[in-house]
Amino acid sequence: MSDNGRVTRSDVPEDPDFSAVLRPRLPSPLQDVVDERFARHGVRLALKRDDLIHPDLVGNKWRKLAPNLRAAAGRTVLTFGGAYSNHLRATAAAGRLLGLATIGVVRGQELAGRPLNPSLARCVSDGMRLHFIDRSTYRHKSEPETLSAVLREAGAEDAYVVPEGGSNSAAVRGCMALGEELRGSADVVALACGTGGTLAGLAAGLGPGQRALGIPVLKGGFLDAEIRALQGQAFGGLRGDWSLDDRFHFGGYARTTSELDAFAADFEQRHGLSVERLYVAKALYGLLALTEEGAFPRGTRLAAVITGAPPAP
Ligand SMILES: *Cc1c(COP(=O)(O)O)cnc(C)c1O
Repeated sequence: MSDNGRVTRSDVPEDPDFSAVLRPRLPSPLQDVVDERFARHGVRLALKRDDLIHPDLVGNKWRKLAPNLRAAAGRTVLTFGGAYSNHLRATAAAGRLLGLATIGVVRGQELAGRPLNPSLARCVSDGMRLHFIDRSTYRHKSEPETLSAVLREAGAEDAYVVPEGGSNSAAVRGCMALGEELRGSADVVALACGTGGTLAGLAAGLGPGQRALGIPVLKGGFLDAEIRALQGQAFGGLRGDWSLDDRFHFGGYARTTSELDAFAADFEQRHGLSVERLYVAKALYGLLALTEEGAFPRGTRLAAVITGAPPAP
């Protein structure tokens, strides 16, 4: 998927107050690591530490939310997620830090009467108002009529709406900066994908000769079309050189195996960082498997994006 057309630089407007409050660590550090499992194949590995951008707005959630928070311009921010959504937690934390009202629309009416799990409890303590909806309404939430009904019920008709997972055009353009930060320093940039918004922006921000490799953590093979659509909305067409490898989802979202867990624990020991299990572990596992298959010529410089950190207890 190549596009040699010019790429416009990310157009997140500068807002000094906003950066002063959030104080993100940008560009995020790029750390070379020594790992003989890669070195043996003549491949160099570096970790792009987006997990260090911000303690509460971690990793790609910062890159995707920041432009949306600016666009919200002080309005209530409403978004969607499951009961363990990293995106909901990041939105709630952003609301607390910036003094914005936030509403989280949570999948599962049945959760309304129960004690909150730690993730949702954290959202509430960050000031987020939760609104639970049944699963079938949740599935149709992007349809205009369903969305208006949900906003009305939640008493949030004027809210700035961010889609589930945070991937809209503003988010995709915000992720171009990730690619721009990596220009000239890697041949292949690998990352785990949920909605694919981060990959869509990253690929657009990379320079000539660089490519992005996405490892979907959800099963289903629908992501290629989604990323094309996201790039179409954000840029008017396909951008950058990117591909997906669908073999490393381990059964789907939040599924794992003892082999994956052992791999992640071992990676933590070797390299002294916490490996987030829902996404990052699968990307790193996939990258090693591809290296062992000989997918990368000797001399290849790989960068693995550490897109997030395990949630704080
Ligand atoms: C949300 C998340 C992703 C997925 O990002 P998409 O833009 O939805 O593909 C990847 N890694 C981590 C750690 C995340 O929290």
